[in-house]
Amino acid sequence: MSTLRFQLVKEAFSHTPVCVAPMDKRVSDYYGMNVFNRETMNKYLSKETFKIVTDAIDNGQPLGRDIASHVSAGMKMWALEMGATHYTHWFHPLTDGTAEKHDAFVEHDGKGGLIEEFEGKLLAQQEPDASSFPSGGIRNTFEARGYTAWDPSSPAFIVDDTLCIPTIFVSYTGEALDYKTPLLKAIAAIDRAASETCRFFDPTVRKVQANLGWEQEYFLVDEALFSARPDLMLTGRTLMGHESSKNQQLEDHYFGSIPPRVAAFMKELEIEGYKLGMPLKTRHNEVAPNQFELAPIYEEANLAVDHNLLVMDLMNKVAKKHNFRVLLHEKPFAGVNGSGKHNNWSLTTDTGVNLFNPGKTGEENLLFVTILVNTLMAVYKNNALLKASIASATNEHRLGANEAPPAIISAFLGKQISEVLDKLEASTTDEAIVFDAKGVMKLGVGQIPELLIDNTDRNRTSPFAFTGNRFEFRAVGSSANCASAMTALNAAVAAQLCKFNQDVRKRMDAGESKEKAIFALIREYIKTSKPIRFDGNGYSDEWKKEAEARGLDCEISVPVQYDAYLAPDVVEMFVKTGVMSEKELHARNEVKWETYTKKIQIEARVLGDMAMNHIIPVATRYQSLLLDNAYKLKELFEPAKFQKLAAEKLSLIEQMESHIDAVQTMVELMIEARKVANRIECEREKAIAYHDTVLPYFSKIRYSIDKLELIVDNEMWTLPKYRELLFIR
Ligand code: ADP
Ligand code: MG
Repeated sequence: MSTLRFQLVKEAFSHTPVCVAPMDKRVSDYYGMNVFNRETMNKYLSKETFKIVTDAIDNGQPLGRDIASHVSAGMKMWALEMGATHYTHWFHPLTDGTAEKHDAFVEHDGKGGLIEEFEGKLLAQQEPDASSFPSGGIRNTFEARGYTAWDPSSPAFIVDDTLCIPTIFVSYTGEALDYKTPLLKAIAAIDRAASETCRFFDPTVRKVQANLGWEQEYFLVDEALFSARPDLMLTGRTLMGHESSKNQQLEDHYFGSIPPRVAAFMKELEIEGYKLGMPLKTRHNEVAPNQFELAPIYEEANLAVDHNLLVMDLMNKVAKKHNFRVLLHEKPFAGVNGSGKHNNWSLTTDTGVNLFNPGKTGEENLLFVTILVNTLMAVYKNNALLKASIASATNEHRLGANEAPPAIISAFLGKQISEVLDKLEASTTDEAIVFDAKGVMKLGVGQIPELLIDNTDRNRTSPFAFTGNRFEFRAVGSSANCASAMTALNAAVAAQLCKFNQDVRKRMDAGESKEKAIFALIREYIKTSKPIRFDGNGYSDEWKKEAEARGLDCEISVPVQYDAYLAPDVVEMFVKTGVMSEKELHARNEVKWETYTKKIQIEARVLGDMAMNHIIPVATRYQSLLLDNAYKLKELFEPAKFQKLAAEKLSLIEQMESHIDAVQTMVELMIEARKVANRIECEREKAIAYHDTVLPYFSKIRYSIDKLELIVDNEMWTLPKYRELLFIR
């Protein structure tokens, strides 16, 4: 009898909320207290060093070694005062999380004792033993060195007793081995390109900043129940489990009142997040039971990515204190919504203009339209790449599953903006751009009303939607590092703007007025990029057909989707913008394919083990009870009566037999398929084999297991069921 499961469920349902010590201060009093931010730097650095460092952060000026020594001295003083004993370079290798190796501040003092030391060179650069991080073949065994180097644009922070220094991670030969390096390059590329575009309109613009506001969705499950599910523990999702009779049908969870146990978790998470300088703003229940969302106020993209990774880490830590486990997987439970991470993206200038905000004057409107239309062009040309940038073995379960954006990238603009573009497209320059008596430019057609915009006209089915003053890239997965999507998007738009800037100048050199040149190009782009615009229902089957006819990328296999990174025009785009070299692109794809294979491989093993060790034994035991009972009936009753009495039982026994047999057969076939796939050497082919020949068994095996769950005596079933996992009391 599964007394253990009942015990765990009882425990899970009897938890009282963990009491969170109240902060007897306002958030503004302790916000950023664990961060070496400007305020702290101002206190701990000399005036001169402070100026040089902030200049490096604001304007990307490189920092000399001597400055690193000054900064490290100040940092050390602050960190020791804060009680830190260790420091680490904190970086984002090409795995799911972040990496850190802690070193104590101590050094020999030469007199037999120890002193606290933190030299500049330790801040600036380190050489972690990096041979076990994925590199896609960039690091040969004879040259396994990798370096981490300080990223001053993201401030150092303290977690527990450790000073964490955000760093990039590159190989000895200079190739990126992480997510941050290409992201920083993409951010620099869009700054250069968009600033130049802006200067056609306002010559005083010096800098354009890419912003990101992420919305992190997640599930919580009770820790005791989590521990009784090997699939959750090892793969982050349930590989089996019959739907709960009640799940999200009543739509009673979304924005519902937050259960007190969860509220206590959120409160502590926020307090810890504020201390780390994260501007956390929004928390609410999501659509599925036990699903929640957390969103900060948007920030500069590099910082926002760091904060997202930090918060995912923090969530795991805080959850344990509350006897929860956080599930960041895109699809932890079948039959209820999965989790994503909308990436709200915008561009702002150092003159205070949000380039996705239609302005008040004709010039501002034309700039807005210029940036918008170039973005559409970039998304159109790179729709396959953008999809590849969010593709993963885990996100694969969510996309295209009628609850999340489809596995086709399109852009939603809403009625108003679409009309403006349609009018611009149909007009001539003379109609479209007029000057009033004072010579001030007006957009003759499609003057965009000041009080925009379809903020309410939300199309939740669009993977890339304009929402009034930003685009929301919604296809990003909840467990993903946002840097991947942000690198692809910013690089693609940067490349497009470069092309635009060049073409405008060419036309101006040929004697065309600036307005005419810009307008002509915009009109051309509106026409060309039309196939990417789609405001309809992205979940419908008609859209899939239509998208194919429009020439958009409709590939549904993740390992094949990764090919988009190596398409000649994409390689050219990354090389031209200086974001990634061809070698890096190839290496990273190797890592992607390998990771894909490993994830499916692990799931296949866990599924096989659970099927054979958990499910089949329990099912067989219960079937034996039924058989035993049938035999006894047969002995007691004459054949005709027995037939009548035992008919249903016999049918159950037969059903069970067929499911048990199916599970056993399918598991064997799956293992065979794995063996064949494992023999393939090419990482791409192997990943494709896993996708095409191993993955399809998962749903077949699960189907029979879930049927057995409904038949087998509830008391005998060892695994916590969906109805127990999904409802926190
Ligand atoms: P919704 O769920 O309706 O999309 P939320 O309030 O949950 O809205 O999240 C919106 C996110 O978008 C927040 O992170 C917010 O800071 C961010 N955001 C708002 N304006 C901008 C902008 N101009 N650029 C980038 N992000 C933005
Ligand atoms: Mg949103």
